[in-house]
Amino acid sequence: MIGVSLSLTGLGKIIWALGVIAWYFIRRPAERRARRHRIISNQRSATDKFGLAAAIVGLGIVPGCFALTGFPHEAAYPARLPSLVLGAVVYAAAMWTFRRTHKELGKNWSISLEIREEHELIASGPYALVRHPMYTSFLLMAVGQALLLANWFVGLAGFVGFALLFFLRVDKEERMMLDFFGPRYGEYMQRTKRIIPYIY
Ligand code: SAH
Repeated sequence: MIGVSLSLTGLGKIIWALGVIAWYFIRRPAERRARRHRIISNQRSATDKFGLAAAIVGLGIVPGCFALTGFPHEAAYPARLPSLVLGAVVYAAAMWTFRRTHKELGKNWSISLEIREEHELIASGPYALVRHPMYTSFLLMAVGQALLLANWFVGLAGFVGFALLFFLRVDKEERMMLDFFGPRYGEYMQRTKRIIPYIY
């Protein structure tokens, strides 16, 4: 009989990998759909590209490397079951939020800062609570990653990736929306928080 032994560290890696697969299947149709709508204003900058790259490295490449090779070995620590359970719940919440934001944004979605033809201001669903629920889902991904992958460096990398994307982008994004939508976005800003409902 073949015995299969799976360490808790391995289990955390598998749950994380399933999360990333879910991420891909949520994102891909949005990209396809958005491509059909012309971009009329583009605020893509080197800084924004850097933030995006940092998020991909911190939330994708660094944890992916750890999942496949165990690198960096020096920063590993023993995984614990409660941490994995909580991590799975948080990562699932991240993907649920991520999916809701894509459904709600629809054709207004963009990988960077862009205004599309007939861009609509979305203020419903998760956008009724916070202005940047997709970035909320990235923060939840970072928390989930830190709980699922038993490695200090990998845990930290997720937060650094999120922070670089978020803080290099959020002011510019809000300025772009204010320029385009005027006082309507100003009013929307007054009744919503940025990423954490009722707090920030
Ligand atoms: N910051 C948002 C959206 C990220 S996608 C979030 O975290 O959920 C980035 C694109 O979404 C930007 O190019 C902008 O054009 C668009 N966008 C951001 N907020 C929006 C809103 N409330 N309504 C419509 N489009 C929005």
